[in-house]
Amino acid sequence: MGRGLHRPAGRWDAQGWPQGAAGKGVMRSMTVFESIARLGPHEQVVFAHDPPRRLRMIIAVHDTTLGPALGGCRMWPYRTEEEALEDVLRLSRAMTYKNSIHGLRLGGGKSVIIGDPRTDKTSDLFEAAGEAVERLQGRYITAEDVGTNAQDMVMMRNATAYVAGLPQTSGDPSPFTALGVFRGIQACAQALWGSSDLDGRRVAIQGVGSVGFHLARHLVQAGARVTVTDIRPEKILRAVEQLGVDSVEPDAIFDVPCDVFSPCALGGAINDDTIPRIKAPIIAGAANNQLAEPRHGDILQQRGVIYAPDYVINGGGVINVAEELTPEGYSAERARAKVERIFDRVLEVIELSRRRNIPTYRAADEIAWQRVQDARAALKAHSRR
Ligand code: NAD
Repeated sequence: MGRGLHRPAGRWDAQGWPQGAAGKGVMRSMTVFESIARLGPHEQVVFAHDPPRRLRMIIAVHDTTLGPALGGCRMWPYRTEEEALEDVLRLSRAMTYKNSIHGLRLGGGKSVIIGDPRTDKTSDLFEAAGEAVERLQGRYITAEDVGTNAQDMVMMRNATAYVAGLPQTSGDPSPFTALGVFRGIQACAQALWGSSDLDGRRVAIQGVGSVGFHLARHLVQAGARVTVTDIRPEKILRAVEQLGVDSVEPDAIFDVPCDVFSPCALGGAINDDTIPRIKAPIIAGAANNQLAEPRHGDILQQRGVIYAPDYVINGGGVINVAEELTPEGYSAERARAKVERIFDRVLEVIELSRRRNIPTYRAADEIAWQRVQDARAALKAHSRR
């Protein structure tokens, strides 16, 4: 493997073969396999390397039991190949759970391109990336993600049919994600107060970018009293002027007395420092990886806080993109109707968490994985017939 991958000193020769008695006659697995084992078995991991077109890409297909693996293509200046591998494995596994819990006939996968999205993008690079996706013959379907945009997907489309989320079809996912988060907040309200009505409830939103702004609009229309923050003052101004919401400085958002705290900025908002400050009995927002560590989900449960697991409540975007891949083709109306059902998904997760006395993030994982297991069992039974 590449030099970026860590090898335990002294156990391997320059070609990557094991040394010493332990290695005699035995091909020991290398760190790349150890990474895969640690982050969960994957069906397939492809390393695509095209030096003339400067492509270094990893495509991870975690599980295709439910259908072709759908997951975005991230472009990031990873410091090491190991870091890129870990990221793509973690993200592709997460896509299996996300696609499963939303009832999509899609498995989980993801790809990463090692490079700086600000300086390293060329049409050649994305053509080479498209060719790598094409070689998988539809086992993996890509889309935009952090560091890539709809324009990059159009370039990839020149080399492969297996691209979703193009501007002329499902378009911007953010309004769909925001609708899903809004419905998820209503589900949390239903579970806690016996009514999904948000009239008069106070909601604090961290980050009023693409999703946070649309979410604030839904909440204001539902009669909620909304306080927002953002690290970009122009984003705050837009929300205050167009929606009439209140605002606070970025760090003060954790101390706002409210019924719902909604993280819609970056990951890790729920951590050791912020949990004691957040007074809301509900945490429900769009951001990915909201829990700094899984144990923070355990702490929320112990404190009696309802936490809507991120990949359940923020699935509106992927539900919308997946609509492109249905036999009927894309319909915004059908996509919206499916996103509305996030209400039921979030309630189902909260109910299982209560019944089994487990944190909501674990309940979500159980529901998502059970669907994969059921599909595997059905496939096995079918193949025996
Ligand atoms: P965005 O970049 O448009 O908005 C994020 C906003 O958060 C920006 O305005 C940014 O200035 C602000 N921000 C960053 N750090 C902050 C901080 N410390 N305090 C306050 N504000 C801060 O991104 P988005 O598309 O709205 O996505 C928001 C989150 O939801 C991300 O975590 C994203 O991964 C996740 N998500 C988005 C979608 C989607 O459809 N866009 C789908 C699923 C998940």
